[in-house]
Amino acid sequence: MRCGICPEQRAITFEFKKKNYSILGHCTGVRKPGPCRDARCVREEVIEAEVVNILRGAQVSTDEADMILSEMAMDTGSEAAQKLTQVTLIKQEIGRIEGRLKKAYLDKTDGVITEADWRGFNSEWQAERVRLTESAKSLAESGPSSYLPTVRKMLELSKRLENLYLSATSEEKRELVNFVCSNLILRGKKIEYIYRKPFDLLAEGLHSAKWLRD
Ligand SMILES: [Zn+2]
Repeated sequence: MRCGICPEQRAITFEFKKKNYSILGHCTGVRKPGPCRDARCVREEVIEAEVVNILRGAQVSTDEADMILSEMAMDTGSEAAQKLTQVTLIKQEIGRIEGRLKKAYLDKTDGVITEADWRGFNSEWQAERVRLTESAKSLAESGPSSYLPTVRKMLELSKRLENLYLSATSEEKRELVNFVCSNLILRGKKIEYIYRKPFDLLAEGLHSAKWLRD
């Protein structure tokens, strides 16, 4: 987390103050020239409460998570069928090219075409075969099976954000917060932040499967 008061946006540091029996956060520019000299401290509990609110904003309920997953399952059904058709067409084309390669080789052996002609056809069709094989492969990898597990994991995480945070160690808390949002700036007692994807969309309340494909 960084300071939103000084132009350098210095880091916010936390220290235990015996006098108040509490952990206080403040800008590391507290003894340096600039607007944060003698910066006011903010109690850790105040900052924690703010962070919990931020996480709550990106938390979906079990019902919402189930709805997103079932909508996605429906969408991906038709997508999978479409993909299968495309892959089948590409494979047919590869089969045709392999047939031509074989025939050209026989024609060369039988003296129907010259060696130079064969070399020309051969390199052209081999290149085409490689290109088609690669596009069939990337089509297969782009499918729902490649991203659904990630979505499921993200939703599982989103459902439990607040509880995860509250039971985490301070190192884990930092990791979790940085996973969900970025650019945390402390300005007075308020935290400014940006949700990372896909939490930004969950936070916007876009309860639809569409967000994933955009
Ligand atoms: Zn500062």
